[in-house]
This record gives sequence, structure tokens and C-alpha cells, in this order.
Amino acid sequence: MSATPHDLHALTLRHPEIASLMAGREIGWLNPERVATAKALASPALQASGVEAHDIEDADARLMRFAPWIAEAFPETAAASGRIESPLVAAPGLQQALSGIASTASPLSATESPLPGRLMIKCDNALPISGSIKARGGIHEVLKHAERLAIDAGLLHQEDDYRAFQRDEIRDLLAGQQVVVGSTGNLGLSIGIMSARLGFRVTVHMSADAKQWKKDLLRARGAEVVEHSGDYGKAVAAGRQEAQQPNAHFIDDESSRDLFVGYATAASRLAEQLSAQGIPVDARHPLCVYLPCGVGGGPGGVAYGLKQVFGDAVHCFFAEPVNSPCMLLGMLTGEHDGIAVEDIGLDNRTCADGLAVGRASAFVGRVMAPLLSGIHTVRDEHLLELLALAYDSEGLMLEPSALAGVPGIHHVLRNDAPEWHAWRAANGLDDGEVQANTTHVVWATGGSMVPEAIWQADYQRGKALLSQVSTSRRE
Ligand SMILES: *Cc1c(COP(=O)(O)O)cnc(C)c1O
Repeated sequence: MSATPHDLHALTLRHPEIASLMAGREIGWLNPERVATAKALASPALQASGVEAHDIEDADARLMRFAPWIAEAFPETAAASGRIESPLVAAPGLQQALSGIASTASPLSATESPLPGRLMIKCDNALPISGSIKARGGIHEVLKHAERLAIDAGLLHQEDDYRAFQRDEIRDLLAGQQVVVGSTGNLGLSIGIMSARLGFRVTVHMSADAKQWKKDLLRARGAEVVEHSGDYGKAVAAGRQEAQQPNAHFIDDESSRDLFVGYATAASRLAEQLSAQGIPVDARHPLCVYLPCGVGGGPGGVAYGLKQVFGDAVHCFFAEPVNSPCMLLGMLTGEHDGIAVEDIGLDNRTCADGLAVGRASAFVGRVMAPLLSGIHTVRDEHLLELLALAYDSEGLMLEPSALAGVPGIHHVLRNDAPEWHAWRAANGLDDGEVQANTTHVVWATGGSMVPEAIWQADYQRGKALLSQVSTSRRE
């Protein structure tokens, strides 16, 4: 469905936020459909979603079975025994920098007093194998597919040592099979690298905004790359079309449950990391998590997992570029994948290529409706400013998409709109002691694979923007 101009007028009347989206303004939206977690998890929409808690445990167990093979196939994971995980680090430098920054244009602004609580970064930019959050969902789905093929062919049992995937008979089996995916870049990297390593034939359909270095890297690893002049949705459609043949498996970023549960395994691992660092999470010590959102599978999976683990003590927020707010538009209107950002006149162009998605997942918004706390939008300039700030304050080298979550802290602590005051009061965050005990986790979703020269160019743009900010303030 595509909204006609008449629909659009009606939609704007019903949802005044749409006018802000159309104007490219940064907004902080609170989800009115969120309910208590226990109630949400028992709701019919979630029951019908095709995702269940035990699927996450299955995914975890599968990743464990593959760990010995992963440790050998990807030596950078050997030290962690083939476990694909990223650090959780405190970011006091960034917390300080955010308190001090005082651009009137910036959502980070409006204060020079210290931000209360504890700011931490979940460094998925440093995930091994593909350097982004896609190393969770994407890799899980490829492994699940390979496992099923090998078991069905009688070449593997779940109890076996999975280093069997090194053996010629399994590699020959997989060489006769094709994996196909459509991507703006990072999903293609994770699927392409893992599939090629297992011996699959793999084809990645890339959208126009996919970066050249990602295509080059994939080709170097043995993947076939098909370039499209259209956006992410077109690349996915082309992949779906190509996979309509025997021996082909299509990884459907717009609706895959196997991707979703792969992402969701992050939750119990984050819980382990918090507890290892002695950080409590409960009603008096809330956890706020800020997740950059493209089609929704990554942030949706992680948030779903977190709600299972922490219940009402965790508040999950998504972040989208002002030109690509597909999840916000879908959830706000209840249309989900029935409406695209182009329908309200946005062009889906952003420097955050990982988030350049015009139409949300077919199921994630429905799953998140009773669970998600809110969504904020961010301008590209602010992503670049934050990219520079994250390096200067913490030495983190992130890609623009990975910074989108940061302004969420501002909304949670400082957004002055009446609904945000009400939200804080309803969730205990109006209490100074609770604020001081809150842990804010910014999910840094990607960056370590970005070539140095390309990262430098973004960093320089961010520095230039920051110096304009401080100059205009002095004037
Ligand atoms: C893909 C991606 C996301 C968002 O994941 P979705 O599943 O598309 O919502 C966020 N950050 C980066 C760097 C990504 O590559």
C-alpha cells in the first residue's frame, strides 16, 4: 500500500508527529502502546509473531556448537574460544563531553551540567568477523542453514564436533548450495563472509547507497556482488527473486525470525557483562538502551531479548535518521510495512548507510508495539559531530550509523516536553537518586571494518561541524 495525498492529509491530522518527520525535524517519540512487560510478552500479537523465548536459547546453543569450528575458521575469535562477542565499556569521557557540549541546534545540548548516571558503550563495532551488529543475526542464520543441510544429508549430528565443517564432504555439499541476501552493506558483509567461509556459493544484492569498499571486500572474500541503482527495498526484492530456485536460500532481512533470534542472544550476554562489572539492574537501578534502527531486525531482536531478561527494569529506545524513520512511521501509524518514508516525501538519504531503510520489517514493529519505550530521530550532521566526539573522548572509531543512539540520553534525561516529564514520573526517572543509579547503554553498532581513509573523512567533517558549533556559540 502506498498512501495517497488524501490519506496523507488524514494521517497528518491523526498523527501530528508526521508533520515534524516531513520537515526533517529531530523528534523524541514515546510509544503510547507500551505496557508492562509481563503483559506484553503474553499478548496475542507476540504469541502470533512466530518468535518464542526458547528460540533464543536454541540460537545460543547453536552458536556454542559451532564455536570450535568458528575458532579455527576465524583465528581472531580463538582467544574467546569461537564466541562472537563484543566488550561493554564505561564511557566517562563521552559522558563528560556530552554534558559540556552546548550547541543550541544540537539535541545533545541545552545543558552544561553533568549528565547523571553511568554511560556505557556496547562495542558491536568491534565484533569479530564482520565488525557490526550483523555479526549476530546474519551469522546465526547462515550457521543454522548450514547445520540443517549437513544434518539432513546425514553428514552431521548435533552431538558431533562441529569442526566437521572443515571436512570435504560437508564443504562439497555446501558448495552445491547458494545463499542470497539483499543489503545496504553490513548484512551483506556478515552473510557473505560467513557463507563463503563455509563453502557456500553466495550472492549479495547491494543497494545504491552501499559503500564501494564493502563491495570490494566481499568480492575479495569470494562472494558474488550484484549492484543495484535502487535503494535497500529494491536490493532485497532482487535477492528474493533470484533465490526462487532449488538449492538457494534467501536471507530475508524484512521478515526473518532466524536473524531476529540471533540478535536476541545479545541480551543474556549483556546481562553477564553487567553482572561481571557489578552493575545492578532493577526498579531502582534502571537500564536504558539506545539502539540504531534500520529495517528493525537488529535492534528489535536485541530489545526483545532484553525485555525477556530484565522486564520492566529495561527501557529500550530505537534511533533513526531524520530521512529514514521507517520504524517510527510504521509504529506511529500502525501501518508497519504498509507505509514507506517516501510516502511522506522523505528521500531515505543519509550518511548512516546501515540505517538507510525506507520501509520497516513486516513483523518487528508489531512485536515491539507493546515493548518499546520510544524512538528518536537524528540529523546526519549530529551523527558526524558525535562520531568526532566519540573518538576524541573515548578513542572509539565508529561508523555514522553507530552514533544514532546517543541523543536518546538527552531525551530520557532532559527532553522538556510534557509527555517526557510524565514518562519520567511514571518510570521513577524523575527521582534524582534513580537517575544517578541509571545505566545508559549506547549500542555502537558498527565501525571496525571501515577503511581508515573513509573513517577519517567522516571524522574531519564531524570536527568541522563541531568547531562551527563552538564558534557560533561564542558569537
Ligand atoms: C544494520 C545496521 C543497523 C540496524 O539493524 P537493522 O536490523 O537494519 O534495523 C544499525 N547499525 C548498523 C551499523 C547496521 O549495519
